[in-house]
Amino acid sequence: MSWTDMAAGGRILVVDDAMENIQILHGALQDEHEVLFALDGRRALEIARTQHPDLILLDAVMPDMDGHAVCRELLGNPDTADIPIIFVTALTSPEDETRALDAGAADFIGKPVNAAVVRARVRTQLTVKRQRDALRALILTDSLTGVANRRAFDERIDAEWRRCGRAHLPVALILVDIDHFKLYNDHYGHPAGDATLVQVAGAMRRAAARTQDLVARYGGEEFAILLPQLDAKGATGVAHRLMDELAALDIPHTASPTAPRLTASMGISSMVPGDLSAPADLVQVADALLYQAKAGGRNQYRTMG
Ligand code: GH3
Ligand code: MG
Ligand code: MG
Repeated sequence: MSWTDMAAGGRILVVDDAMENIQILHGALQDEHEVLFALDGRRALEIARTQHPDLILLDAVMPDMDGHAVCRELLGNPDTADIPIIFVTALTSPEDETRALDAGAADFIGKPVNAAVVRARVRTQLTVKRQRDALRALILTDSLTGVANRRAFDERIDAEWRRCGRAHLPVALILVDIDHFKLYNDHYGHPAGDATLVQVAGAMRRAAARTQDLVARYGGEEFAILLPQLDAKGATGVAHRLMDELAALDIPHTASPTAPRLTASMGISSMVPGDLSAPADLVQVADALLYQAKAGGRNQYRTMG
């Protein structure tokens, strides 16, 4: 998507208890956008969670659950907190407007609405949201390999730790370090080393392919594979697949004392998050096991127990 058409083709959720208001907004937006609608706050929250709209146009005054309550719930849920909200309301005093913006709304449109104004405000908010999403993807991605970077890993391990802790499920981690990569660079050159890192990252993505799995570049020639809801046995299965993927790549490394092709060593940990443990413990255990795998001759994984 180019920077200029970031404002087009959005999915917009319109929330209003009056059908005629929904029809007016639908009429204003339907040529450019996909328009979803809800006649009350509960339904709006459900659609926001399941359909992931890019933007929400929200009526402030509704029976049962008003716009401010809907806004609070949306912003309080990590799954919906980043969806911008434009309040659309007949309450247009400066106090009303300030109250909406204080509640976390991105913008404010007074009723009766003008179609051209609605379209313009929607385009602005869509552009801001998409630029923010693009920027976020950029700061969370390793530019060489395209996998998650260290920052993304640190965010995700904390989030999965909390999520799996609540569900009493394990979180597993594999730390992967390429064997004799300094010798690889010395022998084949740094650009060839870069290309090899890209290939190794691809092998990891194939080995850990569930949607909740995260492959991250942990630093240099070291990678981390975060595996929510897997115990040590499940994670060992992933490590085994990765060994197979690397063998299948069959990247020559004639300078390696370990094998004639590129290999890696791995440390595997898995824990059910508890009050006395933290994500750093998961990393520390995997790191210690990785060290053992190196000391034990490389081209192998070590797991707990
Ligand atoms: P070991 O088997 O003990 O892990 O040995 P090693 O040589 O892989 O480990 P060491 O930590 O001594 O060297 C890591 C090498 O990885 C050195 C560094 O130049 C290389 N490296 C780190 N990041 C990159 C990168 O982005 N591109 C390339 N081409 N090389 C990198
Ligand atoms: Mg290494
Ligand atoms: Mg290293």
